[in-house]
Amino acid sequence: MCHAFLNDSSFYQFLFRIDQAIAAEVQAGGCPSCGGVLHSARYPRKPRGIRGVLDESYESRLSFCCAEDGCRRRCTPPSVRFLGRKVYLGILVILLSAREHGLSAKRRQQLIDTLEVSLPTRWRWCQWWRESFAASRCWQAAKAYFLPPLAAEQLPGALLGRLSGADLRQRLCRLLGLLAPLTTTSWSGLLPVAIDPQKM
Ligand SMILES: [Zn+2]
Repeated sequence: MCHAFLNDSSFYQFLFRIDQAIAAEVQAGGCPSCGGVLHSARYPRKPRGIRGVLDESYESRLSFCCAEDGCRRRCTPPSVRFLGRKVYLGILVILLSAREHGLSAKRRQQLIDTLEVSLPTRWRWCQWWRESFAASRCWQAAKAYFLPPLAAEQLPGALLGRLSGADLRQRLCRLLGLLAPLTTTSWSGLLPVAIDPQKM
């Protein structure tokens, strides 16, 4: 089964380790405002995901706060797990939006029913892909590498189909890496780690 990884807790732990590696690099770089030391200041999250496979690492988002008096700036690293403020995990926002190259229509509908994702939520996601993601700096920079070009209406399915990877899990990891800079507004820069989906 090409989507067996979805119910495999080791896949979610793998994504957590990527988030940890990204966070370690961000922390080592210091406060983006003053260069001060960054202290851990995780914030609680209650992501909606596939029940039973998420461990306690999914109950918080890795984040930092500058230790300098007078600065105290919040600095949240990019994430391959949490897509900004969206309550569903990034992986679900991809898989439940992708009409091609992702899950089969039947499996996608099962997941929508199981997770009780409302139609307005899915419309908002669709709009997010076509407008926010399509206009984002990271997509504007990345899309030049895809020839023939991908139209905004084809996102994210067609993009998933074009990314390199032996299977859906590997292509998803690549797409999560591409989305990661969009998951924070308090830190900017290139993703500080390379994601190698083969290392899971
Ligand atoms: Zn600072």
